[in-house]
Amino acid sequence: MRPKAVPRLVDGQWRMPAEDACIDVVDPADVRRIVGRVPAMSAGEITELYDAAAKGAQRWRATPLLERARVLVDAAADLRRRRDEIAADLVAEMGKTRAEATVEVVKSADFFDYYASLARQPYGQLIADGRPGTQTSVRNEPLGVVCLITPWNDPLLTPARKAAPALIAGNAVVLKPASETPLVAVHLARSLHDAGLPAGVLGLAVGRISVIEAALLDDPRLAAVSFTGSTAIGRVLRRRLADRNVRVQAELGGKNASVVLADADLDLAVSTVAAASFGQTGQRCTATSRVVVDRKIADEFVAALVNAAAAVRLGAGDDPASTMGPLVSRRHQVDVLAHVERARSQGATIAFGGAAPSDEPLSHGCFVTPTVVTDVDPSMSIWRDEVFGPVVAVRVVDGFDEAVRAVNDSAYGLAASVFTRDLAQSYAFVDRVDTGQVSVNLPTSGWDVHMPFGGFGDSGGSTVKEQGLEGLRFYSRVKTVAIRFDTTS
Ligand code: NAP
Repeated sequence: MRPKAVPRLVDGQWRMPAEDACIDVVDPADVRRIVGRVPAMSAGEITELYDAAAKGAQRWRATPLLERARVLVDAAADLRRRRDEIAADLVAEMGKTRAEATVEVVKSADFFDYYASLARQPYGQLIADGRPGTQTSVRNEPLGVVCLITPWNDPLLTPARKAAPALIAGNAVVLKPASETPLVAVHLARSLHDAGLPAGVLGLAVGRISVIEAALLDDPRLAAVSFTGSTAIGRVLRRRLADRNVRVQAELGGKNASVVLADADLDLAVSTVAAASFGQTGQRCTATSRVVVDRKIADEFVAALVNAAAAVRLGAGDDPASTMGPLVSRRHQVDVLAHVERARSQGATIAFGGAAPSDEPLSHGCFVTPTVVTDVDPSMSIWRDEVFGPVVAVRVVDGFDEAVRAVNDSAYGLAASVFTRDLAQSYAFVDRVDTGQVSVNLPTSGWDVHMPFGGFGDSGGSTVKEQGLEGLRFYSRVKTVAIRFDTTS
């Protein structure tokens, strides 16, 4: 099959890339297959995006709010209409299962509908003013041009989570998707473009970061960067932008823990932990990667979790029989297997999995079997480091207090959950755990589009979360306005 050549969007125009300036997009289920070819943009082309975005921002902020909302609603409808086509490309470039990809497309559309709905909500505030004949108010304004930098694991959802609030607030957007997964970002741009987004309001920056980094981040017209990705790159970005008047939001890695207490509903705990650990091949920032289990039920829990891992059907995401797809790339597969080997060498037991299948056709893909690691202690790297694969480390503790200490024994702070039937323990857990999302008898996860989402500590610690009304605050500034309308008093 000839790979799909994807145009780039600059100033509202779709331009085909030159054949020699492309990045190949590879199918992680079979790395011999190139599924797309995207432009490798130059630094000069990134500057062109900012030229167009600066003009687009002026036009877009002057566009009535209800018209901005109309564009977002139409884009959401277009994403839903093209759901299967987009999900197919998502599976092809990222590897997740068709069911996971379909959910992602629908939830991405929800972001646009949700933020569009805010256009009809009360806007700004009137504030009491002691001066005669004077009215004071605050209103929200767009920032200007914002850059959105996103990872490969949810290549449509993460751009949608950022672009929807950025656009409804009236900003122009330069979107830099991950190089492994640019195809669905192009679908998103197409939906917004076809819905009538004016030229320049959205530009796609696709290219090798080593070539485009300076043009992307040093442009003087840049007002804000919203980044989702690794903690290491988040730090690089913060340092780079520290002495400029550029807002930075960084949602980063995680090492999320689920606690299974002695009184837990064990069937619920096992099925939920297995789904949260192995779903999307463990490549969710909120995936469960640590389990803290009470000694009284530890053996029973581990045996059942191993059974759940053994029931996973590895295979290409577009095979309806598959329940777990490959990792995103060979490089990532090697990295995940190295984490497992390190755990073994540090004394942990690989109770299940921890290997790359060697039989065809799976050997051509970036597969790793679902992995349960036991005999884990807090000195081990498998307890501390993010793996971002289908690998769960189990640590045995005695009682509630030790369990809470174990959860908080992490530099990260994204998501945690507890399985218990005790209401008092549930609330005590919620109070004492240092994570941005905490749940009871539910998976470690982020939730619906209107619910704030973000992490503490090395998981981000941004002052403003994403999603919901919180998410909008990052993309607007507050102007305080006093008008003396009666000059006679
Ligand atoms: P990554 O390596 O940090 O890359 C993320 C994005 O940053 C990509 O678009 C990447 O471009 C770009 N980038 C790389 N170097 C850069 C630089 N020096 N300056 C500016 N941008 C740069 O992360 P990843 O491997 O794609 O994603 C996995 C990580 O994301 C995991 O740690 C996961 O936990 C985290 N994550 C967090 C959340 C959350 O909400 N907290 C959600 C999802 C994922 P290239 O692709 O071109 O290198």
